[in-house]
Amino acid sequence: MIKTTELKKAYGELEVLKGITTQIDKGEVVAVIGPSGSGKSTFLRCLNLMETPTSGDVLFKDTLLTDPKLKEAQIDTIREDIGMVFQHFNLFPNKTVLENICLAPVMRKKATPAQALVKAEELLKKVGLLDKKNAYPNQLSGGQKQRVAIARALAMEPEMMLFDEPTSALDPEMVKEVLLVIQDLAKSHMTTVIVTHEMNFAKKVASRVLFIDQGMIVEEGTPEELFDFPKQERTKIFLDKIT
Ligand code: ADP
Ligand code: MG
Repeated sequence: MIKTTELKKAYGELEVLKGITTQIDKGEVVAVIGPSGSGKSTFLRCLNLMETPTSGDVLFKDTLLTDPKLKEAQIDTIREDIGMVFQHFNLFPNKTVLENICLAPVMRKKATPAQALVKAEELLKKVGLLDKKNAYPNQLSGGQKQRVAIARALAMEPEMMLFDEPTSALDPEMVKEVLLVIQDLAKSHMTTVIVTHEMNFAKKVASRVLFIDQGMIVEEGTPEELFDFPKQERTKIFLDKIT
């Protein structure tokens, strides 16, 4: 689905990604773990070109996203195929739940307003929030907002989903409802990359775990390999700190 080769990103002098080479196959659920500031968000944002890599390649299906000849309009179209959900929901505060979900599909001419509405209600049902369709974001709990954000991303019918710490801003009692929605998606074989500190979730749901430290993939493997039999000293130290 997506492949990076020697992906690097620097902000001025600061080298944040120091050459990430990896591949995410269709249907895989990849959890990305690692210390704060290690480049996890930057890596995700490079995958859908929200950030322009300094060097290296990102290949999405047959399209080289890092091809300098690629036009902005083409990149926008490809971005539609890669849904993203952030820590802080980023819902439009002055739009209702339904409007939040229907906006992009209608604007990008993926659907007529009527089609978008049908799809939005279907998605809201899926995330358990049909009764909130006319609410505004400030009338929702954090967990509900995040479920709306997930429904909104899915409304574009993406081929893969990126989650950047989707539960980090939530009160503990709301983490589960959001993780359950993501778990359902994973079960439906949505290709997923999720940056998370929820190690139990990663163990249960991920097919593969990447441990990123200081802008590099230090170690990767199945959840069992990485959590139960880490090979690298840095992985062991990180896991010791968080458990
Ligand atoms: P993580 O998600 O693993 O916590 P990030 O990818 O957010 O890490 O950040 C990695 C490093 O890059 C940090 O040192 C951060 O301060 C820096 N960084 C991230 N975004 C920017 C930016 N837009 N400009 C300058 N530095 C940035
Ligand atoms: Mg981050």
